[in-house]
This record gives sequence, C-alpha cells and structure tokens, in this order.
Amino acid sequence: MDTKKVGFIGLGNMGFPMASNLLKAGYTVYGVDVNRESEIRFAEIGGKVGFTSATLPNEVNIIFTSLPTPAVVESVYLGNEGLVENGEGLLTLIDLSTISPELNKKVAKAALEKGIQYLGAPVSGSVSGAEAATLSVMVGGDKKTYDFALPYLKSIGKNIFHVGEDQELGTIVKLINNLMAGIHTQAVAEALSIADAAGLDHDIVYEIVNVSSGQSGVFTRNYKNFIAQDEYYKGAFTAALLLKDLKLAKHVSNSFKGKLPLGEALVNYIESNIDGYADKDMSSAYLMLTEQKVELGE
Ligand code: NAD
Repeated sequence: MDTKKVGFIGLGNMGFPMASNLLKAGYTVYGVDVNRESEIRFAEIGGKVGFTSATLPNEVNIIFTSLPTPAVVESVYLGNEGLVENGEGLLTLIDLSTISPELNKKVAKAALEKGIQYLGAPVSGSVSGAEAATLSVMVGGDKKTYDFALPYLKSIGKNIFHVGEDQELGTIVKLINNLMAGIHTQAVAEALSIADAAGLDHDIVYEIVNVSSGQSGVFTRNYKNFIAQDEYYKGAFTAALLLKDLKLAKHVSNSFKGKLPLGEALVNYIESNIDGYADKDMSSAYLMLTEQKVELGE
C-alpha cells in the first residue's frame, strides 16, 4: 500500500495543525472528525474527507488519532465501527492522545491479536507547537514500528523519543509532564493573585520571576499567550483536559501505591471549581481563583 497515504482521526485543536503539517510534508492525508465543520476546513486545505474509523483502514496503512478522552479513544479503536475491528495486518495505529496506561495496553493487545501494530505516542508542546511542528512526542511500543513511524512523526514534532517497548511508557512520561504543568499552572494563578492583592503590575512580576528561580515554561505560556491578553480560547489546552490528565496521573501514582499530596489537592480543587472554565485554556486557573474571590466577597 502507498506509504504516502496517511489517516488522521480527530481534527481538533491539536489534530488539525498536526494533520496540516503531514499535508505540508507531502503526504495525502485522510482526515476524520465527528465535527463536520472540522472536516470541511480540512478539505479546504487539501485533505481528503468523507471516511469513518470503519472505512479508513481500507484506504491507508498508517492512522494517527488525536482524541479528547480515554472513552472516545476506546470507542474509536475498540468499538464495532472501530479501527481494530475493521483493520487487519500491515496496518499501524498511532495514538497521539493522552489516555491511561491501561488503555494503551488494552488497545495494543487487541490490535496485536489481529496482527496490527500500535504505538502509544502522546505529545506535548501546546497548539503553538502543533502548528510549528515542534512538538515533543513520547513513544511507547515496538522499536521496528517506531522506526517505520519516525519519518511521519518528524513531520509533526521536533523532539521524538522512543521511551521503551511497552506501549504505555510514553503515556506515563506524558502524565508526569502534565502533573508538573498542572502544578505550575496553579502556581502561576496563585502568584498573580498575590500580585493583584498587593497592587503589583503583572508585567513587572513576570519580568522578574522570568529571570529568577520561579521561572517556568508554563509561566511564560500561560501569562504571555493567555492571561496578559485576557484571551482564554485561542490555541487552548482546556481546563477539562488538564483535569483529565491530573486524574490520570493520580491514577498511575495510586497504582504504584505512591503519594501525590499536591497533585491530589489540585484534582479536588479543580473538580470543585471548574464550572464555567472547563472549555477555557488551563491558564484560566487564574480566573478561577480571582473571580471566585470576588464572588465570595473576600
Ligand atoms: P479537542 O477537543 O480540540 O480535539 C478533539 C477532536 O476529536 C475534536 O475535533 C472532536 O470533534 C474529535 N472527536 C471527538 N470524538 C470523535 C470521534 N468519535 N471520532 C472522530 N473524532 C472525534 O482536543 P485537543 O486539545 O486537540 O486534544 C486532543 C488530545 O491531545 C487530548 O487527548 C489532549 O489531552 C491531548 N493534548 C492536547 C494538547 C493541547 O494543548 N490542546 C497538548 C498536548 C496533548
């Protein structure tokens, strides 16, 4: 089968720019999304549309997915209309979503039983990284399959890692990363709330911390791209997705009988306060904190 043909399911905030970069790299990309508008936009930039997870395996021998939740990933891979049920040998499936390690293993097992290769390959680097093709990609799975996938992955990312042969290993690194990103996000919100209370200008706080020990990539991302612009939708990693990942990190830690005192408190805090912020970028943790203060009249 033609190796220049690629399937891509999930043309959302991350998937759309990743699929666009595969197009730019010269691949023929078959895009699938339940949101018809996303498929229309994808056709406008040269993508092929009009397929489903059941029909896509007839067209291509490599399919990427970038889907919102573990439940959606499970149905797209393992449902009756899913990729595994409708695929066969010579097919390689690569999930770029952030899911649970158990689901990586479950999908891998079902795929391998049909001779289908599967890699768990979550990404990091925000929508801006997806647009610029500079994502980090952390891949778990068979090394030969990784080598086969590498040229495709290089079209969407800059730092590609083969973490190990087990399909869930990339996911565990990704969840470690997002636990840290979540804690940094809350740190930024709390820091700026003190600045507000003290009447300090956000810019001066950012400028100083950015060259001091509190500096972080998350501070730069959250402050410069979102909080300073009072813009919480464009290029978002939503608060709902962050909460999903924090819960997954907690789940992984629990499975190792580990402790996450801060991580656990953060899950509880976001869960009780996410109403009104779920579809805004994670940097809206700042609004969650400061708007709530006003409401409570503190
Ligand atoms: P998103 O919600 O913007 O995109 C998901 C897309 O999947 C949507 O277009 C939706 O319509 C589509 N979809 C849902 N169900 C479907 C189905 N059954 N079949 C086909 N398409 C379906 O989410 P996103 O921000 O692009 O994130 C995607 C994944 O990448 C998530 O797992 C997220 O945790 C991860 N991620 C996101 C970011 C980020 O900055 N947004 C960064 C790294 C990783």
